[in-house]
Amino acid sequence: MQVNQSAKLTNVCYDIRGPVLKRAKQLEAEGQRILKLHIGNPAPFGFEAPPELLQDIVRNLPEAHGYSDSKGILPARRAVVQRYREQGLAGVDVEDVYLGNGVSELIVMTLQALLDNGDEVLIPTPDYPLWTAGVSLCGGTPVHYLCDEAADWAPALDDLEAKIGDRTRAIVIINPNNPTGAVYPRPVLERIVELARRHNLIIFADEIYDRILYDGAEHVSIASLAPDLLCLTFGGLSKNYRVAGFRSGWVVLSGPTEHAESYIEGLDILANMRLCPNVPGQHAIQAALGGSQSIEDLVLPTGRLGEQRDRAWKLLNDLPGVSCARPSGALYVFPRLDPEVYPIEDDVRFAFDLLEQQRILIVQGTGFNWPATDHFRVVTLQYADDLEEAIGRIGDFLETRRR
Ligand code: PLP
Repeated sequence: MQVNQSAKLTNVCYDIRGPVLKRAKQLEAEGQRILKLHIGNPAPFGFEAPPELLQDIVRNLPEAHGYSDSKGILPARRAVVQRYREQGLAGVDVEDVYLGNGVSELIVMTLQALLDNGDEVLIPTPDYPLWTAGVSLCGGTPVHYLCDEAADWAPALDDLEAKIGDRTRAIVIINPNNPTGAVYPRPVLERIVELARRHNLIIFADEIYDRILYDGAEHVSIASLAPDLLCLTFGGLSKNYRVAGFRSGWVVLSGPTEHAESYIEGLDILANMRLCPNVPGQHAIQAALGGSQSIEDLVLPTGRLGEQRDRAWKLLNDLPGVSCARPSGALYVFPRLDPEVYPIEDDVRFAFDLLEQQRILIVQGTGFNWPATDHFRVVTLQYADDLEEAIGRIGDFLETRRR
């Protein structure tokens, strides 16, 4: 008997862990060395977790055997509240915070509680593809608004406004951005808030990289500019605190939650159904948010992340026919391949060929719902020497692809 996947998955895809990665694993199993530039997972590249966070997990392990409250343990939710009050979300309290198994679980949960079939959600292109996948999985229709490479990848507000329709329920902002590294200036955020206000949209703000900022970039939580709008702000420990494996994330509801009672009831049902997030991971949150913010040293020009971001950006820009905007945040660069120089028809094939010929693993631009085959993403977590070797080999590969 043939067993088919559900029709719900028809438009659902997540190419960061797609077929190219599967092939890379095969090559590795055969003993090949693959230089991995494909995933934003800091720990395997020697980025250690803050020690106090690990100590707190171990100390609390004896108390972490049972289920917790389905929204998460109180000390962690209090720490999240404290953090967002400092960021200007004045009215939030512990009941507005849901902890989750990473932001990933909460993205799907919060969309599932909101969307009816055919409801539209505005999502940036390029995007972190879980947003598009999540909207599709929940029966919604992802509608992509352009981010403008020539404006350091800020959202193109005209395009955004033109795409608002009768069925639009919400707008997703990823700031700092994966895959572009953009950090949105306050005036851009203010204009997005105006649009959301005018069209009664809910704001989903994915701010998981809010402490990975370069060159003194300022991060503004969009919810702090929109106290009159329902905002859901997502954050977690995977990136800022380098413990992606603990699956610790949160979402904070702010704004006129009194008008969202039914939605919140839906969220509570889904939170109850998953019983609770991983409890040891929850115990890391208070220590992380209250402890030393060691990420600040890593993002300095002399810190590993700052240095690697710079090295990758410069080396890629030095390749003929390649250009990329300088990232102000996060862990990625999203270079452009000039189509006049490199005519690429199928960028999945491009990623496969780069892997086969040079043993370099990247993710193609269309994996981020980018509409053209002229970009790819490089993760800047590799050690500087490995990054240099990898980009050198990308250059060798591109030489074979020139028109
Ligand atoms: N949001 C963005 C923009 C991401 O880049 C990622 C992971 O790469 C996530 C959410 C998921 O994070 P988590 O590990 O908290 O599930």
